[in-house]
Amino acid sequence: MRPCVARPDGSLEVLGGLRPAGQSGSVIQSLDAAEMVPLPDGAALMHLPGRTALTLDSRGRPFAAEGFLPVAAVLPVGYVRTLLPAAREETGRQRLPLFGYAAVAERRGRLMVAAAASDDFAWWRPSLRAPRGDLESALAAARQALPGNRLVDHLAVCALQNRCYTAQNTLLRQYEGALPASPACNADCLGCISLQSDGEAPAPQPRMRFAPTAEELAGLASYHLAGEGAAIVSFGQGCEGEPLTRDDALVNATAEIRRRHPAATIHINTNGSKPRMLERLIEAGCDSVRISAISFTDSVFRAYYRPAGYGLDDVIACGRVMAASGGQVCLNLLTFPGLTDAPKEIERTAAACRDMRVQQVQWRSLNVDPGWLIAVLERGGHDLGRGIGVRAAMEELRRRLPGVEHGNFTRPVTKPVARPAQA
Ligand code: SF4
Repeated sequence: MRPCVARPDGSLEVLGGLRPAGQSGSVIQSLDAAEMVPLPDGAALMHLPGRTALTLDSRGRPFAAEGFLPVAAVLPVGYVRTLLPAAREETGRQRLPLFGYAAVAERRGRLMVAAAASDDFAWWRPSLRAPRGDLESALAAARQALPGNRLVDHLAVCALQNRCYTAQNTLLRQYEGALPASPACNADCLGCISLQSDGEAPAPQPRMRFAPTAEELAGLASYHLAGEGAAIVSFGQGCEGEPLTRDDALVNATAEIRRRHPAATIHINTNGSKPRMLERLIEAGCDSVRISAISFTDSVFRAYYRPAGYGLDDVIACGRVMAASGGQVCLNLLTFPGLTDAPKEIERTAAACRDMRVQQVQWRSLNVDPGWLIAVLERGGHDLGRGIGVRAAMEELRRRLPGVEHGNFTRPVTKPVARPAQA
């Protein structure tokens, strides 16, 4: 393989006489063919301004390709990044937009990316995406069926401008539908894609600015679930804050959706901050949860989430209450090479999964400027060194968590839920 870098105008260049490098935390390492897959359909290539591409010389030592920028791939859904692009940050650089940057190299004329396939659930295949004309017709139909429901206009922007698959599915009345519920959050994540509180990087899915009523949420859910092939509605989307902060509105919406759709999966994507609130939702009919976490090390969790009024105990308790009710528990593992695959992290993640009785781990690349995250965590005393590798971490968690599924997407609940034994 050879390094693939970019000129400042964005044109790609393959360098001879050097070896390609990737990055795990702050450690520069060789990009090996075993870590790479051909650039998948739907991946986007980017160059990283304000950074210099790092490669390896013939003796395996880091070598800066002066005048060239690093090239990164942003992966489509169903893939997880295994190594970061190797980069030296230059003075005055700007924070990068929030994407899951993965290392790229060239091999026999093809671009390769440091990634592993994580899921192949048919609902999310890029080939099933509807053309824009179909989306516009679906939007017109939703507007006619749900006059005055502000969520329809909100999802129109998500579906047509931000190309959000879940928003598109909601309008098309298929698969998993989105029920964004909250403009507020009780955390301030470094990698939040709906709000960057310091304004240093643009949020790719700007935060919703209104609090929908229970009637608006239940109305949209019913519209979606009446469609052929629709099976799930999900609170907690990329364009909102934390749905569990909506209290009564969320409980009332859930009860109404369950009354109208006894067989539907009512799911919530959450930061896991409010177990008592989740309990109320479960009583109202919620039967599936996906809890997001970057780490089960308290200091890393706090440095990343900057949580207000909750902690890891609450996150674990959220898994427990859903498991105790017989519902589905998924973990949204926000992966970052050099952190997720560190032996201590693997151990703590496995213990948390047992504690929460997680049935599925979803492997997602954390969307963030890698250099910035590394600097913030290292300032807090966390050494992001070389992990065992993201692929090896996946294998290790499979070994430690027999019976737990690994993937990328939430499935509809098929009752009764198969559950691994409690720790
Ligand atoms: S919990 Fe979710 S909505 Fe809240 S700050 Fe973090 S990523 Fe953003």
